[in-house]
Amino acid sequence: MKERKEPIVIAIDGTSASGKSTNARLVAKALGYVYVDTGAMYRTLAWYCLKKGLDVHDPKVVAAACRKWKTRLECVDNSVRLLVNGYYPEKEIRTAETSAATPAVAAVPAVREWMKKTQRACTQFGNLVMEGRDIGTNVFPETEFKFYLDASLEERTRRRAADGVKENLALRDQRDSQRAAAPLMIPLGAVVVNNSGQTPKETSELILAEIRRRLAQRGAAASKPSS
Ligand code: C5P
Repeated sequence: MKERKEPIVIAIDGTSASGKSTNARLVAKALGYVYVDTGAMYRTLAWYCLKKGLDVHDPKVVAAACRKWKTRLECVDNSVRLLVNGYYPEKEIRTAETSAATPAVAAVPAVREWMKKTQRACTQFGNLVMEGRDIGTNVFPETEFKFYLDASLEERTRRRAADGVKENLALRDQRDSQRAAAPLMIPLGAVVVNNSGQTPKETSELILAEIRRRLAQRGAAASKPSS
């Protein structure tokens, strides 16, 4: 019987505004893999709760909303989207109000379970480059491709400001790192990339070189005759 090939998952975790999205997109494009922004999924739930006038700081209310909302995954231009009632709130999830509300919904254990199941289901679209806070530790702990991005707070704040967003990144990182359920941390075995002072081209090429080295090792191991 022919062996079924498991999709490859590249996990890119890191602090807020550490270049995860930019680099994950570049890496996905170079490899022809599908890009998944898991932060967008948490932001979508936060936006949905705010829109419904729900208290994002009440874990029971947030868990109930997550149990009931009607969502669907779709893949457009090699990028996964989470739709709510058939709608993709692309702009709405990037407002300062949604950003500030997101860590509260992301700390709810039932939400994280739902997200993990939904994010693992993304392999239906093929090989993935998935970015977030707990991809290497919790969502795909089995992957051998784990990266953790960081940069100085000054540089990350500058990058967000250049995108026209002013927010307290240190506070968001603190909330994400201190929650009990799947906190932000460096996954065991991850390649840590501090990209302060690097261009996205430099960072993504560094990541790609490491992925290609590991893929080649895998290929070499698979083609070795067993003794
Ligand atoms: O990456 P982004 O800034 O869009 O993430 C928004 C928020 O979503 C994070 O600050 C965090 O609270 C939450 N998040 C998470 N786990 C992930 C991705 C995002 O808790 N895998």
